[in-house]
Amino acid sequence: MPEGHSIHRQARDQTPMLRRKLVAVSSPQGRFIDGAALLDGRRCMAVEACGKHLFYRFAGGDALHIHLGLYGKFLCAPRPAAEPRGLVRVRLESPTHTVDCNGPNQCEVLTGEEVDRLIARIGPDVLRDDADPERAWARITKSRAPIGQLVMDQSVMAGIGNIYRTEILWRQRIHPLTPGRALERDAFDRFWADSVALLKVGVNLRAIVTVDGAIEGTAGRGPGRYGARTNIFKKATCPRCGGPILQFPIAARKTFCCEACQPAVDPVALKGVAAAGEDG
Ligand SMILES: [Zn+2]
Repeated sequence: MPEGHSIHRQARDQTPMLRRKLVAVSSPQGRFIDGAALLDGRRCMAVEACGKHLFYRFAGGDALHIHLGLYGKFLCAPRPAAEPRGLVRVRLESPTHTVDCNGPNQCEVLTGEEVDRLIARIGPDVLRDDADPERAWARITKSRAPIGQLVMDQSVMAGIGNIYRTEILWRQRIHPLTPGRALERDAFDRFWADSVALLKVGVNLRAIVTVDGAIEGTAGRGPGRYGARTNIFKKATCPRCGGPILQFPIAARKTFCCEACQPAVDPVALKGVAAAGEDG
């Protein structure tokens, strides 16, 4: 599953290819013929990311909504367009570029109002300037669910996937099983600020880099070389203290944790928290 930085990167890359241009919309695979016909020949006004969703806003108010899911991919190229490769659900052709999307989880036409309603259901996106972290804090501080689950819940806050969750909790010394309601406000503020900073780096570098100073050290290597770019994700030992890295699933995805650097919340304190109120 792409994390939020890669979707924002797509919006940034595709904007100059499509924005303010008349766009031919088709479905070479055939599964999006009706939707494509609704948008075909209209002017694209903006390409916008929110969390892991992409919205192509067209003149007249409608939008193409794409969520890549696990298997979706984009292929962008200058024209002239090559023959569609594989099962291209939707092809967008401007006078200068072709954007193909294969295998998205969602690909649909929404009205402007439907886009607004969908965005309202998505939690504040750490990469958007209009994101309000108070919305995320309000959900987290009322929930007994582990923070490692809450920060990946895209309705609580948007953009964080499994690697960023693991890495940022470690950087901020927060145990992933800490219940949301037991998290200190200061720890949340540090998590949010670090998320904003690291995902912006991710957009710029087209890769997840969570090791301070690693940008220079790994320049020129391909993305995906987690070895040098992450601290504890899929590692056996902690680079800070040398202790063992534990691994366990939260919300069905394997996370990693150094319990020396990320001490578990005191069970006595937790009891007080558990007695304090409602689940969120
Ligand atoms: Zn450690």
